[in-house]
Amino acid sequence: KIEIAGLKKSYGPLEVLKDINLNVATGEVVAMIGPSGSGKSTLLRCMNLLTIPDKGTLRVGDTRFSFDAQEKPPKDRELASFRSRTGMVFQHFNLFPHMSVLENVMEAPIQVRKLNRGAAEELARSQLAKVGLVDRAGQMPHTLSGGQKQRVAIARALAMQPEVMLFDEATSALDPELVGEVLNTMQNLASEGMTMVVVTHEIAFAREVADRLVFMRDGVVVEDGPAKDVIDNPRQEATRSFLSHFH
Ligand code: ATP
Ligand code: MG
Repeated sequence: KIEIAGLKKSYGPLEVLKDINLNVATGEVVAMIGPSGSGKSTLLRCMNLLTIPDKGTLRVGDTRFSFDAQEKPPKDRELASFRSRTGMVFQHFNLFPHMSVLENVMEAPIQVRKLNRGAAEELARSQLAKVGLVDRAGQMPHTLSGGQKQRVAIARALAMQPEVMLFDEATSALDPELVGEVLNTMQNLASEGMTMVVVTHEIAFAREVADRLVFMRDGVVVEDGPAKDVIDNPRQEATRSFLSHFH
């Protein structure tokens, strides 16, 4: 469960997020769309505190943060523990190139959760099985396809047993023929009840898999409703105009 209220973020004079209010229920899948520069990535980064908001409150599960530019930001230790419970998958996979697939997935459970190697390996193999790559455990990242790398990145995030998963254009850097396998993995995760926020240009995926669709523009949530309703029948002209680029 995620609760965001009154969230603001500026970079110098540029107001990137203007008073964002957004709730994501446990098990809900929310897709986020919007033009380039509208603040989607910034909002996602604020959800796991890779970016610290200037104002507002953020709650994920039982953890609540309140921000004010005048106050000290949360301590590094608090941030690290919080980030480890909000899995994030980026456009570029950021796998550790010098580690095998298995070691990539074992790394955070060992370093952050302090699991021993045996427990971490068992956990890593089960997450790799989930994304259909347990047979690739011994390979190095450079020997994998883009779609396989992204699935390893998903397994790596899942190995921290996060409460929510955040996806920032996870398929945008992939060759078209590799997009489907990653979307499938995400769809499986959604059907297992994972709470997810998915920034995507895959409108068909959003319509099919997301419970809700959020349209952002200029740092504001312009429209927020059931994904099928918003896509088939947008209420706002801005949403309609944006969606028309995809048909
Ligand atoms: P895209 O679809 O291109 O990924 P986006 O909706 O994800 O766009 P953001 O990356 O959130 O947009 O950026 C929103 C605005 O904030 C942009 O104008 C961007 O240049 C600016 N911005 C983002 N991060 C920073 C930063 N670290 N420093 C300064 N400006 C930033
Ligand atoms: Mg972005």
